[in-house]
Amino acid sequence: MSEFDLIKRYFTRATPNALLGVGDDAALLQVSSGNVLAVSTDMLVSGTHFFPDADPFMLGHKALAVNLSDMAAMGAVPRWATLAIALPEADEAWLERFSAGFFSLAQQYGVELVGGDTTRGPLNLCVTIFGEVPAQQALRRDGAQAGDEVWVSGMIGDAALALAHLQRRIDLSEAEFAACAPALHQPQPRVALGVALRDIAHSAIDISDGLLADLGHILDASQVGARLDFPVLPFSPVLRGYIGQPLGRECVLSGGDDYELCFTAPATRHAEISAIGARLGLPLTCIGKIVAGQGCIVHDASGDPIHVEAVGYDHFR
Ligand code: ADP
Ligand code: MG
Repeated sequence: MSEFDLIKRYFTRATPNALLGVGDDAALLQVSSGNVLAVSTDMLVSGTHFFPDADPFMLGHKALAVNLSDMAAMGAVPRWATLAIALPEADEAWLERFSAGFFSLAQQYGVELVGGDTTRGPLNLCVTIFGEVPAQQALRRDGAQAGDEVWVSGMIGDAALALAHLQRRIDLSEAEFAACAPALHQPQPRVALGVALRDIAHSAIDISDGLLADLGHILDASQVGARLDFPVLPFSPVLRGYIGQPLGRECVLSGGDDYELCFTAPATRHAEISAIGARLGLPLTCIGKIVAGQGCIVHDASGDPIHVEAVGYDHFR
């Protein structure tokens, strides 16, 4: 199969929302009036972000999901994507499953694949996502203010717990692993939440590197500090069984790959935010508050600060 047959067969679909999609030297895209373009790129590297034998359908899902999550964190609506892919070989069964995983999520969010690049090489997936958002309503990292409440969506820590199991750092039962593996393999981007928070949140980020690491980026950008309440952090029944162990605690505070949103908002918007959670069927939990100063302190049930060892993933540390 030639490179062009491969692109045609696996990566070319109708793109009614683009002026020009796959097949020319560049795609042509028109943003709706009043909106600006939100652009983000995320790369998944075999051996770093996934195991080389990972299920291709799930990889296709995840390669797009992590990018949709960045749109969610900006309050943007994702509209188009490009895909740069390096493949060791043109394995048709693999490509079939990978593109099925990619396009099923793309279709769910109305995202069109409008271009990319295809080369031979060690398996590597790089998606760029293009979304739109009214300029003044983008959810940035630098808007948190002292007095804001800190919120997190969904449950955190399951993806890290599933990964710890795959790395044999913990031994989950089959049922426990089955319960937390979807968080690792098929994260659900919180796009509707991001849009709903546009006029409400002061700042937002998606949790890809761990709660403390990612909230830390908001704190640094906004030049504020935070106090979090460990007992109210939302984690799953499976993780509850391990929360007394350092590894369980690490999954909740420093585990990555959850792709939930962490955001801050004025306390006066508390009830509205709870209502958004109810409308979306997505638990939203107030986990603490923003304070003047710097750094993040996590308190246990008796109000004592918890010492945290690992603080999120850093490729070069
Ligand atoms: P160029 O030579 O201009 O780099 P290519 O030959 O690499 O173009 O690609 C031909 C067309 O196919 C372009 O429109 C490009 O955007 C698209 N394309 C290449 N790879 C992919 C892919 N993996 N997914 C979607 N579109 C792709
Ligand atoms: Mg090319």
